[in-house]
Amino acid sequence: MKFPKETRTYCPYCKSHQAHKVRLVSKGRARTLAAGNRAHERSLLGHGGKVAGEKTVKKQGKRQVLMLECSTCKKKHQRTVGTRTKKKIELK
Ligand SMILES: [Zn+2]
Repeated sequence: MKFPKETRTYCPYCKSHQAHKVRLVSKGRARTLAAGNRAHERSLLGHGGKVAGEKTVKKQGKRQVLMLECSTCKKKHQRTVGTRTKKKIELK
């Protein structure tokens, strides 16, 4: 999927359409002691009754999140692109 690097869209701070710079939101560094991470580690213990090499769930794409920066107020807000994609969004 392609998306323009600059786009004119609604800014919730200016409450009107403004030019925005677009970039992809990257995941921050994972905290090893976060509750979700600890729960995941626990789930990886043992074999969980699964047969090795057999996959029960097909890999689904991820919803990409865009960071939009308003050119007038310089504030940022995010937008999730509704469709799931296997590849990252191409900014052109
Ligand atoms: Zn704005």
